[in-house]
Amino acid sequence: LIATVAHELKNPLGVIAGHVEMLEQIPDLPAAASPSLRALTRSTSRLDTLVRDLLLLSRIGNPDTPLVRVPVDLALMLAAVTEDVTLRAGQHDVTVTTAAYDGDVVVAGDPEELLRLLANLVSNAVKYSHDGGRVDLALRREGDDVVFTCTDRGLGMSADDRAQLFSEFFRSTDPEARERPGTGLGLAIVARIVARHEGRIEVESTLGRGSTFTVTLPASGH
Ligand code: ADP
Repeated sequence: LIATVAHELKNPLGVIAGHVEMLEQIPDLPAAASPSLRALTRSTSRLDTLVRDLLLLSRIGNPDTPLVRVPVDLALMLAAVTEDVTLRAGQHDVTVTTAAYDGDVVVAGDPEELLRLLANLVSNAVKYSHDGGRVDLALRREGDDVVFTCTDRGLGMSADDRAQLFSEFFRSTDPEARERPGTGLGLAIVARIVARHEGRIEVESTLGRGSTFTVTLPASGH
């Protein structure tokens, strides 16, 4: 159902996005139209994110979707992910630091999925930080495993929230967290990607203090 609905939404959404773009390019549009166009652009982009997440979730949730593994250096990937969040982090004065890599951090996996895994955790850490906060990332080798940790000192979560964190569409009831836009699909996607790669994910979090997500994946060749 999720895959069908997402596919059905994709085409009309593409049409809306295309026409919004066309309208934006019309010279001498009445000034009164600008707020409506901006609202349309924002909403279209949120819908687009939702549809993409639904499609990804249904693809990786399908046990018949094969996992094509190649060696992926998580250090290189994390550097790219960190660069991608710089703009958003800068807007909120959030500092993102990455500890020096410790050992060989190559895993065998699907690069697109591993990128989403890192990107979702890092962007959540930035999103749920307070302005002026900091996010610490680290990658290390532990025996036959590669361990990634993502720590923020932001909103944190209650025990109730922690228990449901990886369910599809779950969003916290905390009003401060709900103010920040999201679909509630990011961590459900992360959990499925971790499971497909035979890894595990753990969360430590205290409401009002911050959160640490730890992902353990088998190192390449193990
Ligand atoms: P989204 O961020 O799109 O709402 P996620 O699945 O990524 O969806 O996260 C689910 C919920 O878990 C979020 O709505 C938020 O309440 C909570 N959450 C996730 N990451 C963090 C974090 N680093 N700090 C505090 N709360 C978080």
